[in-house]
Amino acid sequence: MQQDRNYGAVFIVVFLILILIGALMMNDSSYSVENLINDILAGFIVFGFFLLIVLLIRKFSKNNPQQAQMQAQMQVDSVDKDFLIEPQKSDVTFDDVAGISEVKEELIEIVDFLKNPRKYQEFGVRLPKGVLLVGPPGVGKTLIAKAVAGEAGVPFFYQSGAGFVQMFVGVGAKRVRNLFAKAKANAPSIIFIDEIDAIGKARGALRNEEREATLNQLLTEMDGFEKSDGVIVIAATNKVELLDDALLRAGRFDRRVYVELPGLDDREAILRIYLRDKPFRGDVREIAKMTVGFSGAALASLVNEASIFALKQNKGFIDNDDFIAVRDKVLVGKKKILSYTENEKKILSYYQAAKAVVARWLDVDFDKMTLVKDNFKEIDRELISKSEIESKMEVYLSGMICVEDIFKEKYSNASEDIKKAKELAQKMVFEYGMGENILSSEAEVAKLLDDAAQRAKVLYLSQKEVILKAQRILFEHEVITAEEIKAIFDEVL
Ligand code: ADP
Repeated sequence: MQQDRNYGAVFIVVFLILILIGALMMNDSSYSVENLINDILAGFIVFGFFLLIVLLIRKFSKNNPQQAQMQAQMQVDSVDKDFLIEPQKSDVTFDDVAGISEVKEELIEIVDFLKNPRKYQEFGVRLPKGVLLVGPPGVGKTLIAKAVAGEAGVPFFYQSGAGFVQMFVGVGAKRVRNLFAKAKANAPSIIFIDEIDAIGKARGALRNEEREATLNQLLTEMDGFEKSDGVIVIAATNKVELLDDALLRAGRFDRRVYVELPGLDDREAILRIYLRDKPFRGDVREIAKMTVGFSGAALASLVNEASIFALKQNKGFIDNDDFIAVRDKVLVGKKKILSYTENEKKILSYYQAAKAVVARWLDVDFDKMTLVKDNFKEIDRELISKSEIESKMEVYLSGMICVEDIFKEKYSNASEDIKKAKELAQKMVFEYGMGENILSSEAEVAKLLDDAAQRAKVLYLSQKEVILKAQRILFEHEVITAEEIKAIFDEVL
C-alpha cells in the first residue's frame, strides 16, 4: 500500500516536470490558452513514453518470477562456487578415544550396521537415521564420529552447522541437498554435522529466512532417505534444549547420546593416550586428580604445554612439576575450562554427598553422582505425585544445608539447585494446583520451599553419619554410585 502511494506521488511530480519540459520544447514566449493546451498535450505524449519504458522495465525484471528465480539461483551459485563437499577417510578407531565406554557401546551397533547393512535389511530392523551427540565443547564428539567412520571403514562427510547458513536465502538449503546427494552416492557413509544448533535452533520470534530454509531442507532430506540407503547422520550440539522439536522427532535425530566431561578414570586414560610416546616420569593419576573439569581437548593441550615447558628446562623428561607449572596457563588460555582447588573440591563433595544420600533415602532415582553433576533421571510419566515432587525439592536443597552446617558459609554453587527447587514449587502451585489455597500465589511457592528446606534439614541431621562417609568417597574418587550409598546405609543402620 505504502509503496503504491509512493509510486503515485513520483508519477505526479514527473508529470509536472514533463509538462514544463514540453512547454520549453514548444519554445513559445507568449502565454495563451492555446499554448497552455499545447504544453499539456506535449507533456502527455512525453509522459506516455516514459510510462511505457517504466512498464517494460518492470515487466522484464521484478514481475517475471522465472527471471527473479534465475537471478536468485545465480546469486546462490556464485556464493557457492568455492564450496566443495568431499568425503574424508577416517583412520581414527575407538582405541584413540579414551574413556566414555558407555558412549562407545551405544555406537557399536551403528558401526555394525554400516559394515553389514544387508544383515539388518534382511531382518527388517529399524536403526536410527540420526544420532545426536550432546555435550560440552572439547569432550570428543567429533573424534567419536570419526571413530565410528574409521571403525566401519566408511567415508566421512564433515560439515559445521554454521557453514551451511549464509547470507543469501537458498545457499544453505542447496548445500544440504548436495551433501546428502554426495553421501548417498558414497553409501554406506557418515554425515557429521557439528554445532547443529546453528541450523536447528527453535524458530523463535526473530525469523531468519535462510536458516529456516536450511532447516527445512535438512528435515526433508532426513525424511527422504531410507535406512537402506546406508547413510547415518551424526550431529553434535552442546545445547540440546535450544533445538527445534522437529529435529528431535521420530525418524530424525531420535537417538541421543550424552558425552560428558571426563571423570577421574577417564582423565587418566586420556592423559595416558597423549603421554604414550613421551618421556614421562611422573604419576599420571596425580595429574588426573588435579584436572577436575578439564575436557579431553584441554587435557591434550595441557600435555602439550607441559612438554614444551619440560623441553625448555632441558632436563630430558617430563614430570608432574611441568604439569603443575603450566596448569594455570592452560586454564587462563581457555577461560571456559573450569577446574577446582582442593578446598573447592571439598565443598562440592559435601554438597553432592548430602544430595546423594537424601536422594537415596527418598527414592529419587540416579545411578551415580559426580562432584558437579547429579544425573537424576527425568520423570517422563504423565502422573506425578505431590510427595514425589516434594522429595525432589528436599534433595535439591539438602546440599546447601549440609555445606552451611559444615563450613558455616553459603556458596554460589547452590544457585542452580535452588532455581530447580523453586521451579518445582512454582509448577506445584501454578500448574498442578497442589498448593493449600485455591488462589495460587508466590507466597505459597515460598511456603512450599521453606517447608521443604525444614524437612531437608531434619533429614540431613538424622543421616549426617552416612553423608560424611559418602563425602569421603566423593572427595577421593569424584564420583559415587547409588550402590555405594546403599552399602554405607547397610553398614551404618
Ligand atoms: P568436540 O567435538 O566435543 O568439541 P573434539 O572431538 O573436537 O571435541 O575434541 C577435540 C580434541 O580433544 C580431539 O581431537 C582430541 O585430541 C581430544 N579429545 C577429546 N576427548 C577425547 C577423548 N575422550 N579421548 C582422546 N582424546 C580426546
